Amino acid sequence: MNRQNIDIPQTSIEDQRRYIAEINEITSKKDLKYHIITYGCQMNVHDSEKLAGMLNTMGYTETLEQNKADLILFNTCCVRENAELKVYGNVGSLYTSKQQNPNMIIGICGCMMQQEDISHYIVKKFPFVDLIFGTHNLHHFPRLLWGALHSSHTVVEILDKEGLIVEDIPLTRNLGVSAWTTIMYGCNNFCSYCIVPYVRGRERSRQPIDIISEIKQLSEDGYKEITLLGQNVNSYGKDLGKHYYFSDLLREIDDIDGIERVRFMTSHPKDLSKDLIMAMAESEKVCEHLHLPIQSGSNNVLKTMNRGYTREEYMDLVNLIREKIPQIAVTTDIIVGFPGETDIDFAHTLDVVNKMEFDSAYTFMYSQRTGTPAAKMDNQIDNKTMKARLQALMELQNKISRNINSRAHNQIVEVLVEGLSKNRNDMFSGRTRSNKLVNFAAPYDVTGKIVQIKVNKAKTWTLEGVMV
Ligand code: SF4
Repeated sequence: MNRQNIDIPQTSIEDQRRYIAEINEITSKKDLKYHIITYGCQMNVHDSEKLAGMLNTMGYTETLEQNKADLILFNTCCVRENAELKVYGNVGSLYTSKQQNPNMIIGICGCMMQQEDISHYIVKKFPFVDLIFGTHNLHHFPRLLWGALHSSHTVVEILDKEGLIVEDIPLTRNLGVSAWTTIMYGCNNFCSYCIVPYVRGRERSRQPIDIISEIKQLSEDGYKEITLLGQNVNSYGKDLGKHYYFSDLLREIDDIDGIERVRFMTSHPKDLSKDLIMAMAESEKVCEHLHLPIQSGSNNVLKTMNRGYTREEYMDLVNLIREKIPQIAVTTDIIVGFPGETDIDFAHTLDVVNKMEFDSAYTFMYSQRTGTPAAKMDNQIDNKTMKARLQALMELQNKISRNINSRAHNQIVEVLVEGLSKNRNDMFSGRTRSNKLVNFAAPYDVTGKIVQIKVNKAKTWTLEGVMV
């Protein structure tokens, strides 16, 4: 196995041209199809768009039917153990297909592969896998795939160290009105429960000029909504050494014609500056929605999580945001059952949820991630207690969400239409600027348009209405 620790040259995408050309020769003779299975967060989904872009450049075409694919790629996530188990199950189930079609290529990449033990385990347990690579050498995919097409052994290449940012990777985005743009990679925060800094490396910001030109192109291509991605977008620019920060980027994007809405995720409370709040308030296109993970309402727990703020500081921040942007919807993430969390700590979480009245919250039971400090803490909480706390938290949050949504009843809201509703094919669906999902009836196809909807039904998670 080749586990390397090297700097990735910035021009390496250029070096791939030879491999792209050689794979093109193969695909020009056969109609080869690929199927990508993506786990985890938006960053991973966006990485899959890059993998798809490279595959299309190499002459492959996408199939949504896994059993028709000549190349199956698993882009994995390691944030939760469950996702890892799913990957093992899905890879294992391909054994028979590989026996029947030995030319089929099976590849696994993404965060999970950055953990050394896991790539070793996969090679041993699933020797029929052809290709394994990590997050830091995604742009080397053409060379790695060429290797897998020409080798009878598993090609494994995982870099332990992040490299420079590589621009110009071809992208195949899902068609639609919304597009994602990564503005930075990695994270410096080392929250004690999180594996991300170990598998995605330290923070690296893309140059503003590259981001702006990508968004201008997206606008020309007809996209109306941009979501800026990063593990902690609020610290964008700190590594650039040019006094250009996230607030500056938002202000510049606000001037791009054609883009109607700008969103971003994820925001770390300790890096949410007043200047950033002012930039959000002043920018016409930045939507009135902020996802600001609090994780716990207890100062003891926040400290052991290494989050870098107190509950009081968090609440002051949200109050300031609401003062400057009164229509803003605030959503959050909360973990229950973190090691050492007492009944009193949990009561503090409920108290903050009551006081902050979040529009919605992603709630999770703490899950041990091998390789993180929290996994080694000896005061782990039992499953039964975690489940009871999660239940209590969800009941409280659902009540608050329902209540907030009910205020939209009979109101007219602006919706950017994504297409037909996934659950009701007689309805369209889209999002308000505050990121609420709205299903509505319309007399003609309004996909991609911004429409006004009169809300006639408010539920816990969604709104319903009619076009006006
Ligand atoms: S901010 Fe914390 S939770 Fe988020 S990616 Fe970084 S370490 Fe993980």
